[in-house]
Amino acid sequence: MDSAPGEPPPLVTADTPPPPPPAPPSRYESQKRRDWNTFLQYLRNHKPPLTLARCSGAHVIEFLKYLDQFGKTKVHVTGCPYFGHPNPPSPCACPLKQAWGSLDALIGRLRAAYEENGGRPESNPFGARAVRIYLREVREGQAKARGIPYEKKKRKRSTTVSTTTVISDGGEVGTSLANVSTVVTRESDGGGGHGVINVSVASTSATNTTPSVVATATTV
Ligand SMILES: [Zn+2]
Repeated sequence: MDSAPGEPPPLVTADTPPPPPPAPPSRYESQKRRDWNTFLQYLRNHKPPLTLARCSGAHVIEFLKYLDQFGKTKVHVTGCPYFGHPNPPSPCACPLKQAWGSLDALIGRLRAAYEENGGRPESNPFGARAVRIYLREVREGQAKARGIPYEKKKRKRSTTVSTTTVISDGGEVGTSLANVSTVVTRESDGGGGHGVINVSVASTSATNTTPSVVATATTV
């Protein structure tokens, strides 16, 4: 359809539904493609030369260790004073590595990409037992280094204990206060302590004029 340059097409615009957004590959799919290309590039640069067909779980682990130099996760060594601290107060010289979660997700994508590119599941190096063990070691090591409890806590009992402790503390405070007042009463009851108690009561009554205190003192 030809339309004159200066002529506005209001009806056409109103009737036309908004153009559907071009369906891009999902974030997962594009990330998987990038990861796969990165791995193929790694194989091409490998010395000695390595082909995908000869790639084993050990080579996959080697690849994951190679990726650590690009990592952004601080993993404290055992000698670091911040070992086990999730939020250290100041920087340290410990190395940055790939977070376990990133490696785990990466292996999942590469494992799928390997089979999508013609690899057989039974020879998938990304599904090798050695890789699983390596990932588990990374997970446990990083959990220790960063002080993150990796296993779910089932220790609600400790919460109950602490609550009980708080309650008993309150009780003890109350008891000690009661003891103090008891002591004061005894002192006021007994002979010898009269002078001191009378002075304090007198000063209190002078400022506040509380008749009950004065009355008690007077009674004693
Ligand atoms: Zn450190």
